[in-house]
This record gives sequence, structure tokens and C-alpha cells, in this order.
Amino acid sequence: MKKKILVTGAAGFIGSNFIKKICLKKEVSQLYDFVILDALTYAGHYPTIKNEVESNTHLSFIKEDIRNQAAIEKLFTQEKFNGVMNFAAESHVDRSIENPNIFFETNAIGTLNLLNSAYKSWVEMNKSAEFRFLQVSTDEVYGTLTESDPAFTEQNPIEPNSPYSASKASADLMVRSFYETYKMPVLITRCSNNYGPYQFPEKLIPVMIDKAVKEQPLPVYGNGQNIRDWIHVDDHCRGIWAAFTKGADGQVYNFGGDGELKNLELVKRILDILKKPHSLISYVQDRLGHDFRYAIDSSKAKRDLGWTPQVELDQGIRDTVQWYLDNSDWIEQVRSAKQV
Ligand code: NAD
Repeated sequence: MKKKILVTGAAGFIGSNFIKKICLKKEVSQLYDFVILDALTYAGHYPTIKNEVESNTHLSFIKEDIRNQAAIEKLFTQEKFNGVMNFAAESHVDRSIENPNIFFETNAIGTLNLLNSAYKSWVEMNKSAEFRFLQVSTDEVYGTLTESDPAFTEQNPIEPNSPYSASKASADLMVRSFYETYKMPVLITRCSNNYGPYQFPEKLIPVMIDKAVKEQPLPVYGNGQNIRDWIHVDDHCRGIWAAFTKGADGQVYNFGGDGELKNLELVKRILDILKKPHSLISYVQDRLGHDFRYAIDSSKAKRDLGWTPQVELDQGIRDTVQWYLDNSDWIEQVRSAKQV
């Protein structure tokens, strides 16, 4: 019998890529039905996945908010899910600095709501060994590194520095507690900075491409020396699926792209691809509490899940720039729909 999986937040950047790249595979669609739940906040855009949902019977969509415990409870009772993949989140660090509360409400309490309902379902299924709850998390829960520190492993302490990463860390700790307390089959994935198609045009790469094309100043925080590890969203999605299908209960898996880059270097690469002058770079006041460096050690995922990142950074960025050039109508649609 097919398994029915709840996928939350899949009208956003990573979730929509997950639907397009993983859920449509024949070997996946034959075995799984996916119920996509999204509140369609400013970051969620239903048209991004509309075609996929409407032309595939193993996909369905429901507009709902994970903060609404009663609605989530009812959905679990009706649908009898065999698993949950929780992508839904408030995800923009700058917004979390402006308004931490909604980050805690969605990322921490929303995840707890899902856990509570999932736990009840799992118990009703006689604690089925097939049940899985996968929490999509971030390397930002580990805090920050100096230039010479080794990359984050799953053993690093949780030391979040922004309201965003603190809310994600809260969720991770709650997920962990459901394993330690109830032995509920949970997994956590922690990934570095994603890039690729369908990213909301407030995040670094789409913003820089947009500004460069329009020959407007490209705002770079501080001196641009902060370092991020970049991973193509396709590699992240493959990692999430590998963890969901092959990972061990109670485990955390790190995913990174082996693609560390200073922010300034990244912006210069984008300008070079677009053949625009570096003089467009404009240094702006640094983000409050700006983490200096993230780097991720994915050796556990490589060893235990047989996963490796496949998209080479330089080519991936070139393809991404080209995608935004070819899909300016999507960007305008998202902007006007969300009035940002
Ligand atoms: P996103 O902001 O593009 O998408 C988030 C989605 O969640 C949107 O569709 C939004 O409508 C939905 N959502 C928000 N609040 C909701 C609520 N209360 N109820 C239901 N749906 C809600 O984010 P993203 O970049 O796609 O990130 C997805 C997940 O991956 C997040 O959990 C994020 O923390 C994690 N992550 C992101 C990155 C990255 O680089 N973008 C890296 C590592 C981990």
C-alpha cells in the first residue's frame, strides 16, 4: 500500500524544489502520496507548484497554518499520515531581527504542534516502525565559526545567535526530545546555505542578480568577509530524501556543498557572470549579530546515506543566474502577489 506523507512549507523555495525534483520521480510517486500543507505567507507562492499539484494524482495541496493546533490535529485524524517532512518556517534572518515572535511561533510552536499530532497518529498506528518525522533544519543552529575552526559536525553544541537560528534550534531540541522521551522515529537534517531556482527575491543570491541586472547598487553587509557554505537546492533535496528513506531514527545528518565562499567573492562572481562592473558593490551597515562563518562537515551523510553533493558551485551559480534571467516573470509575479 502507498504511504501518505505530509510535506509542510512546500510552496516556498526548498519545498517547491523538493516537490519538483523528488516527488515527481516515478520510483517515488509509485510508493508515496504527498499532502502539501502551506500557509502561503509572503514567502509561499502556490503558482510555483500549481502545475505539479494539479496534474499529479499523488500530490494534493491544503492551505493551512502549522500554528493552528486544532486544524493540524484534525488533518492528522483524517489523513492518517505515515510520515511528516517539515519544511515550513519563517526563514529570513533579517526579518527575525525585526520581529522575533513570529519566528518562535511558527518555527518552534508550529513544529511542536506537528510533533504532538504526529505522536498521536504514531501511537494509533501501534507505533509503526515505518513512521517517520523529518525536521528540515539549518547549520545556523550551531552558531558561528572562526576562519580556522573545523567545520560543524553533528556533535557540535547548539549555540544559535539570531532569533531565526534560536527558533530553529528550539524546534530541533523539541524533535530530539520526542525521540529521547517517546522513542518516536524522528530525524533532523541540518544544511548550509541553499541556492537555486524559486528562491524568494529577498535572499542574497536573487537580490544580487536582480540588482546587477538593473545596474543598481549591490548591498553587501559589513566588509563582505563573512563566509558561507553554498549548496545547490537539488543536492539538499536529494539529501533530505536520502535521510527520510535511509536514515536511522533519532539521528541528525549535516548536508553541505563543500562550497565555502566569502560573501564578497560570491557577489563578484555574480557580477562577472553578468558582465557588470564590481563598482556596483555598495557596502552597507553590517547585520546585527552577523555570524562570521558557517562550514559544514557532511561526512556522516556521505558515509551512512551514500549521499554526496553533485552540483559544482561555479556551474551551479551560473545555472542559477541564467534561471533568474529566464524567469523574471516568476519574480515579478511573486513580488506583486506578495506586495514586496
Ligand atoms: P521559504 O521561506 O522559502 O519557505 C517557507 C515556506 O513555509 C513558505 O512556503 C511559507 O508559506 C511556509 N510557511 C511559513 N510559515 C508557515 C506556517 N505557520 N504554516 C505553514 N506554512 C508556513 O524557506 P526555505 O528557504 O524554503 O526553507 C525551508 C526550510 O529549510 C526551513 O525550515 C529552513 O529553516 C530550512 N533551511 C533553509 C536553508 C536555506 O538556505 N534557504 C538552509 C537550511 C535549512
